[in-house]
Amino acid sequence: MPEGPVVHLYADDLRTGLRGCHIAEATTTLRTVDLEPLEGCAITGASAWGKYLFLLLEGPAGALHLRIHWGMFGRYTWDAPAANGKPPTAVFRFSGCNRMLYLYSVSMRVFPGTPDKALYDPRTDIMNTRWDTDLAVEKLRALPADTLICDALMDQTIFAGLGNAIKTEALHAQRIHPESRLDAMPDKTLRDLIHEAVGQAQLFGEARRGLMSEATAEGKDAFSGEGRYPWALIFRRKRCPRCDGPVTKAPTGMGGRVSHWCADCAVLYK
Ligand SMILES: [Zn+2]
Repeated sequence: MPEGPVVHLYADDLRTGLRGCHIAEATTTLRTVDLEPLEGCAITGASAWGKYLFLLLEGPAGALHLRIHWGMFGRYTWDAPAANGKPPTAVFRFSGCNRMLYLYSVSMRVFPGTPDKALYDPRTDIMNTRWDTDLAVEKLRALPADTLICDALMDQTIFAGLGNAIKTEALHAQRIHPESRLDAMPDKTLRDLIHEAVGQAQLFGEARRGLMSEATAEGKDAFSGEGRYPWALIFRRKRCPRCDGPVTKAPTGMGGRVSHWCADCAVLYK
């Protein structure tokens, strides 16, 4: 699944690729969204919050935006459909820049105006320069006391954009067992973990940016590096890089998402 850092890369790519473009035609196989109002609109930008990407538009009736969620397998191609023959969820033909954009396995909604800053608070996006650790600690402390840290980190209202790989790496780096209880973890431990997660998100973004430009330079699909985590030390690894012990892999927490941890290095706060 594209985590926040990757969605921010997509937003950068779309912003650059669609500069000066107007939507000439927009079609989708989704019955839940009508893209017709977008036809004739100018693209004014693209931005990201958490795992959402916003395509910003200006039409005759004012500003509007298309919100895209990438789900587990969302992706896009420029100018030609994907080579695997999979039918796109949406196709955009642009005028003014002579480009096409094909979206796959996404969900979308159209909203009037620009994205609401109260709804998409930049202080809660792990990739945003306005990220606010104090606010995150405050929100963590407001969760039920027996919440496990593996679930709390995946809460998109606290850590927008944080996904399973970042969760796993941050916990490993700070030697925290994913099944640790929030109420057993001191504030200092939580703060160190949050700083770690934000740092891991940056590493993830840089690594994926490298893979995407490498693929593009080799004439490959920009998504060919997906599923590779070259920066990761424990996510999808077999041995602990710290003590060489075996890595445990199991679903954890209420969410049941898979965690990887080293039983010898990780401290269980309970
Ligand atoms: Zn270890």
